[in-house]
Amino acid sequence: MAISPEARAAFLAAVGAAGVRDDEDTRQRYGTDALLRGHPADLVVVPSTVDQIAAITRVCRQFHIPLVVRGAGTGYTGGAVPVRGGVVLSMERFTRILEIDEVNQLAIVEPNVLTGDLQTAVEARGLFYPPDPASLAISAIGGNVAECAGGPRAVKYGTTRRYVLALQAVLPTGEIIRTGSKAVKNVVGYDLTQLLIGSEGTLAILTEITLRLLPKPAAVSTITATFADVAGAVGGVTALLAARVLPSTIELIDGGSLRAVERYLGRTVAPKSAGAMLVIEVDGVPGAVADEAALVTVACRAAGAIAVDAASDSAERDRLWEARRSLSYALRAAAPRKINHDVSVPRGHVPALFALLARLERDHDLWIPSFGHAGDGNIHVNFMVDPADAAQMTRAAAAADELFRGVVALEGSISGEHGIGFSKAQYLSLELSPDVIALMQRVKAAFDPSGILNPGKIWIDG
Ligand SMILES: Cc1cc2nc3c(=O)[nH]c(=O)nc-3n(C[C@H](O)[C@H](O)[C@H](O)COP(=O)(O)OP(=O)(O)OC[C@H]3O[C@@H](n4cnc5c(N)ncnc54)[C@H](O)[C@@H]3O)c2cc1C
Repeated sequence: MAISPEARAAFLAAVGAAGVRDDEDTRQRYGTDALLRGHPADLVVVPSTVDQIAAITRVCRQFHIPLVVRGAGTGYTGGAVPVRGGVVLSMERFTRILEIDEVNQLAIVEPNVLTGDLQTAVEARGLFYPPDPASLAISAIGGNVAECAGGPRAVKYGTTRRYVLALQAVLPTGEIIRTGSKAVKNVVGYDLTQLLIGSEGTLAILTEITLRLLPKPAAVSTITATFADVAGAVGGVTALLAARVLPSTIELIDGGSLRAVERYLGRTVAPKSAGAMLVIEVDGVPGAVADEAALVTVACRAAGAIAVDAASDSAERDRLWEARRSLSYALRAAAPRKINHDVSVPRGHVPALFALLARLERDHDLWIPSFGHAGDGNIHVNFMVDPADAAQMTRAAAAADELFRGVVALEGSISGEHGIGFSKAQYLSLELSPDVIALMQRVKAAFDPSGILNPGKIWIDG
């Protein structure tokens, strides 16, 4: 859509010339995210104050212009893509850690602080921010809150949702609101903080985030267990849970993903005979960590692991995590296109999910390497395809449909971390009933009566 000269002048008045960009390169760059399916922005605005953001919303409302908030642009479902054109509002100037409060164990941050930078800053003070998406070096806290990001540590510590105490946000109507408080306990009125978490930039623009922190665990032990095949590793996960240990991480990497990451990094990650690997971490006080690590080792051996090894020092641990965090990039390099589905099932159904994946590979003649958070049932399923092969793309679409129906039948969810964005909107009704979707749309209308904020996301609304 074209931005009229009057609207452009209003944006310039709101943020100044340095905050308005519409050259071709910028419009394209701010039109995509990690999904790599974009639509150029018509105009990019880069505010530096909350009042400027409120002014931008008023201009968009006045001229009926779609407004899309962009954090670091690492989303996997096109959440920050302006599918209907309009204005992309980049939060790139909101990068300050405003406060780390050691007494109350909380941090107050602007939304575009990188997750990894926050972790480093609080750990230097003996504190701990557990959510650890694999994108932590490149994704921002605001985007993490808007998507309710998770990561390997969710099995013990939960996802971003558990750590957000309070928010400041600008509504698409221009009001600046505050939700929640610094208090850990707060049951006053509807919990709008939790409603905004995971709302994918469709309800409000987050401008300040208060995060709960924990004391940094004094000890961590990292253990790898390799198995002949995925079924063996899934058996290892079941054995661990049955042993009543609560690791901070139980990551499963299948054989195809292991070989891809070895090619990508140019080094060995697991023995050649390994058809699957578990990366397990336990953390806490040193004595308890040693006891739990011993229980993990016994459980994995009893489940038939070929080898169980503990990382001997922090350098070895870092190398293991480098391999785990490189998986997305490694698979991206292994085929012309990787279609990533982050499905989630109750953890008791993880074996059934992997059985479903094996059947989909066979029935649809596809390579579907998979890895992820086996401890909480959230598995990254990757359809490796070549867009030039129309028959293969048709088979992949049919397999995706079966996958989503399968996880819903297993009482799971079509997205455990990445949200719906626009890329999964067509599948929403597999999981949510028409009544629930209609209720969500009424909530959306209460926040955004003009429908300007991130249209075309979560559901297909014509
Ligand atoms: C290599 C790689 C690994 C990844 N690993 C994980 C993982 O382990 N776990 C996981 O959960 N995700 C993962 N992701 C996905 C992605 O990093 C997360 O979804 C992340 O939370 C997005 O943050 P962002 O700042 O990049 O947000 P963006 O992509 O910029 O935006 C995502 C959504 O949030 C909205 N948004 C952003 N900022 C704000 C704000 N201030 N106010 C309101 N709405 C806002 C946008 O409108 C959009 O809808 C991975 C991505 C990559 C590329």
